Amino acid sequence: MQLFHKIKEISDLFEAGSNEQARHLLREILSNYVALHDETERQHLRIETLEKILEPEKNLFYAQGFFWLTSDAKKVHGPFCPKCMNTEGDLILLEKDAHGFLCPYCNCRYPALREAVGAPTGSVQTQRQAHIINFNQ
Ligand SMILES: [Zn+2]
Repeated sequence: MQLFHKIKEISDLFEAGSNEQARHLLREILSNYVALHDETERQHLRIETLEKILEPEKNLFYAQGFFWLTSDAKKVHGPFCPKCMNTEGDLILLEKDAHGFLCPYCNCRYPALREAVGAPTGSVQTQRQAHIINFNQ
Protein backbone atom coordinates (compact mmCIF):
# COMPACT_ATOMS: atom_id res chain seq x y z
CA MET A 1 0.00 0.00 0.00
CA GLN A 2 2.89 2.31 0.80
CA LEU A 3 4.28 1.65 -2.69
CA PHE A 4 0.92 2.60 -4.23
CA HIS A 5 1.00 5.95 -2.38
CA LYS A 6 4.58 6.61 -3.51
CA ILE A 7 3.70 5.87 -7.15
CA LYS A 8 0.66 8.16 -6.86
CA GLU A 9 2.94 10.85 -5.39
CA ILE A 10 5.37 10.44 -8.33
CA SER A 11 2.50 10.71 -10.80
CA ASP A 12 1.23 13.86 -9.07
CA LEU A 13 4.73 15.38 -9.09
CA PHE A 14 5.13 14.70 -12.85
CA GLU A 15 1.69 16.21 -13.53
CA ALA A 16 2.60 19.29 -11.47
CA GLY A 17 5.81 19.68 -13.50
CA SER A 18 8.07 18.84 -10.54
CA ASN A 19 10.08 16.40 -12.63
CA GLU A 20 13.25 16.51 -10.54
CA GLN A 21 11.37 15.70 -7.32
CA ALA A 22 9.50 12.89 -9.14
CA ARG A 23 12.79 11.43 -10.45
CA HIS A 24 14.32 11.61 -6.97
CA LEU A 25 11.36 9.69 -5.51
CA LEU A 26 11.50 7.18 -8.38
CA ARG A 27 15.22 6.55 -7.72
CA GLU A 28 14.40 6.01 -4.04
CA ILE A 29 11.75 3.39 -4.93
CA LEU A 30 14.13 1.63 -7.34
CA SER A 31 16.85 1.54 -4.69
CA ASN A 32 14.42 0.04 -2.15
CA TYR A 33 13.24 -2.49 -4.76
CA VAL A 34 16.82 -3.66 -5.46
CA ALA A 35 17.50 -3.99 -1.71
CA LEU A 36 14.26 -5.94 -1.24
CA HIS A 37 15.06 -8.20 -4.21
CA ASP A 38 18.53 -8.94 -2.80
CA GLU A 39 17.06 -9.71 0.63
CA THR A 40 14.43 -12.04 -0.91
CA GLU A 41 17.14 -13.90 -2.84
CA ARG A 42 19.20 -14.24 0.35
CA GLN A 43 16.18 -15.61 2.22
CA HIS A 44 15.50 -18.16 -0.58
CA LEU A 45 19.10 -19.38 -0.35
CA ARG A 46 18.80 -19.60 3.43
CA ILE A 47 15.60 -21.68 3.14
CA GLU A 48 17.21 -23.99 0.57
CA THR A 49 20.19 -24.50 2.86
CA LEU A 50 18.02 -25.24 5.88
CA GLU A 51 15.87 -27.66 3.86
CA LYS A 52 18.99 -29.54 2.77
CA ILE A 53 20.10 -29.81 6.40
CA LEU A 54 16.71 -30.80 7.83
CA GLU A 55 15.64 -33.06 4.91
CA PRO A 56 11.89 -32.40 5.46
CA GLU A 57 10.96 -35.16 3.00
CA LYS A 58 12.49 -37.68 5.45
CA ASN A 59 11.96 -36.01 8.81
CA LEU A 60 8.48 -34.50 8.55
CA PHE A 61 5.61 -36.26 10.27
CA TYR A 62 1.99 -35.56 11.19
CA ALA A 63 0.72 -35.98 14.75
CA GLN A 64 -2.02 -34.44 16.90
CA GLY A 65 -3.38 -32.38 13.99
CA PHE A 66 -0.07 -30.66 13.19
CA PHE A 67 3.08 -31.24 11.15
CA TRP A 68 6.32 -31.71 13.08
CA LEU A 69 9.94 -31.91 12.03
CA THR A 70 12.65 -33.83 13.76
CA SER A 71 16.34 -33.23 13.20
CA ASP A 72 17.29 -36.31 15.22
CA ALA A 73 15.48 -38.91 17.31
CA LYS A 74 15.32 -36.66 20.38
CA LYS A 75 14.60 -33.16 19.09
CA VAL A 76 11.18 -32.30 17.59
CA HIS A 77 10.44 -28.89 16.04
CA GLY A 78 6.96 -27.52 15.56
CA PRO A 79 4.08 -27.42 15.34
CA PHE A 80 3.87 -26.27 11.72
CA CYS A 81 0.69 -24.95 10.08
CA PRO A 82 -1.31 -27.84 8.54
CA LYS A 83 -3.18 -25.52 6.16
CA CYS A 84 0.00 -23.97 4.70
CA MET A 85 1.61 -27.42 4.40
CA ASN A 86 -1.44 -28.98 2.72
CA THR A 87 -2.13 -26.10 0.31
CA GLU A 88 1.31 -24.63 -0.51
CA GLY A 89 3.72 -27.25 0.80
CA ASP A 90 5.21 -24.57 3.06
CA LEU A 91 6.55 -25.27 6.53
CA ILE A 92 5.36 -22.31 8.58
CA LEU A 93 6.14 -22.49 12.29
CA LEU A 94 3.07 -21.63 14.38
CA GLU A 95 3.33 -18.92 17.02
CA LYS A 96 2.03 -19.74 20.48
CA ASP A 97 -0.24 -17.24 22.19
CA ALA A 98 -2.68 -17.28 25.13
CA HIS A 99 -5.42 -19.04 23.08
CA GLY A 100 -3.36 -21.64 21.25
CA PHE A 101 -1.41 -21.30 18.01
CA LEU A 102 -1.50 -18.70 15.24
CA CYS A 103 -0.04 -19.06 11.74
CA PRO A 104 1.89 -15.85 10.95
CA TYR A 105 1.39 -16.48 7.20
CA CYS A 106 -2.27 -17.52 6.68
CA ASN A 107 -3.53 -16.24 10.08
CA CYS A 108 -5.26 -19.55 10.87
CA ARG A 109 -5.83 -20.13 14.57
CA TYR A 110 -5.50 -23.54 16.18
CA PRO A 111 -6.35 -24.66 19.69
CA ALA A 112 -3.52 -25.35 22.12
CA LEU A 113 -2.31 -28.90 22.54
CA ARG A 114 -3.91 -30.72 25.43
CA GLU A 115 -1.56 -30.60 28.42
CA ALA A 116 -1.74 -34.35 28.89
CA VAL A 117 -0.60 -34.92 25.31
CA GLY A 118 1.86 -32.07 24.67
CA ALA A 119 4.27 -31.97 21.78
CA PRO A 120 5.22 -35.34 20.32
CA THR A 121 8.53 -36.67 21.46
CA GLY A 122 11.31 -38.16 19.43
CA SER A 123 9.73 -41.58 20.00
CA VAL A 124 7.37 -40.88 17.05
CA GLN A 125 10.40 -40.60 14.80
CA THR A 126 12.10 -43.52 16.51
CA GLN A 127 9.13 -45.74 15.65
CA ARG A 128 9.52 -44.77 11.99
CA GLN A 129 13.23 -45.59 11.79
CA ALA A 130 14.40 -48.89 10.37
CA HIS A 131 16.08 -51.33 12.68
CA ILE A 132 19.44 -52.38 11.30
CA ILE A 133 20.31 -56.03 11.81
CA ASN A 134 24.00 -56.84 11.72
CA PHE A 135 24.60 -60.15 9.86
CA ASN A 136 28.37 -60.05 10.32
CA GLN A 137 28.36 -61.44 13.89
ZN1 LIG B 1 -0.71 -21.18 7.74
